[in-house]
Amino acid sequence: MRATVMYGVHDVRVETVRDARLVEPTDAVVAVTRACICGSDLWPYNSMKPNEVGNRMGHEFIGRVEEIGSEVRNVKKGDLVVAPFAWSDGTCEFCVQGLQTSCIHGGFWGGTKLDGGQGEAVRVPLADGTLVRLPVGPDHALMPSLLTLSDVMGTGHHAARAARAGPGKVTAVVGDGAVGLCGVIAARRLGAEQIIMLGRHPDRVALAREFGATDVVSERGEAAAERVRQLTGGLGAHSVLECVGHGESMLTALSIARPGGAVGRVGVPQSDEMPEARTTFYRNVTISGGPAPVRAYIEELMPDVLEGTIQPGRVFDRVTDLNGVPDGYRAMNERESIKVMIKF
Ligand SMILES: [Zn+2]
Repeated sequence: MRATVMYGVHDVRVETVRDARLVEPTDAVVAVTRACICGSDLWPYNSMKPNEVGNRMGHEFIGRVEEIGSEVRNVKKGDLVVAPFAWSDGTCEFCVQGLQTSCIHGGFWGGTKLDGGQGEAVRVPLADGTLVRLPVGPDHALMPSLLTLSDVMGTGHHAARAARAGPGKVTAVVGDGAVGLCGVIAARRLGAEQIIMLGRHPDRVALAREFGATDVVSERGEAAAERVRQLTGGLGAHSVLECVGHGESMLTALSIARPGGAVGRVGVPQSDEMPEARTTFYRNVTISGGPAPVRAYIEELMPDVLEGTIQPGRVFDRVTDLNGVPDGYRAMNERESIKVMIKF
């Protein structure tokens, strides 16, 4: 089979690799029908140390179950399924709490040992806990939105929940990538009244407005914080969604939260330092968030996708086949594209 392998900075190749196969009786093999490239794939794209083995890529996919191990009960051959960006048993202490990204027996796709979603097929460990069946066919018009349930829509939802977005609250979203845009959808879905998008790319900002953003702040740094204060009567936002992970975006997010407010961070931190430790202390700002347990949110969000109430699939502005994946990385890295979908 063919799959995407990353060897180093800007070095993404599509190659023939060993076929995905069952190893454990709890595994399934899924033939991928749709996948995508994530903003978080761009971190290694710009920083990976060269590696001769290469890292298999992709953690967002939908596909057909081709084979199941002898202990798999919840899915069967032929089912169309969506996979969250982490695999999990569904039964441990943390999974039962709905924190599947901390599953005691779980893990993440790709790397040097496991298949990734950006390939023709994937060995899925712990298939019963991990996979969720889709009630539609593989070419259904809602496929792009259903694909976002594997990561970006669930991650935006996690940011909104961690930031305690809700009715009557002022919400600010830092980051105009696919996760930030889904954060706008999530904040509106949870009832946020005023939604301030901090972003500067015209196409992304336009989509944010369609998703429910009421205000757009295109300044950066302290000027952005000042603009948010102006828009909030000098008070700041109740809820801030940090959807980037850079030190600068975290600094902005923490500085625009009002006293008693909350920051939900889902951008992978690129540093161990947390800015504004003292100022957020004196303002009683809650700092929450982390890797989203999207497995817990798939069932919650899927009805809204199927009813068309939310349309997160609109974040995809480019479609490619597997051969076009290296150029898809380039396009996202150069911000030519918000998010690239891979159709098999
Ligand atoms: Zn678990």
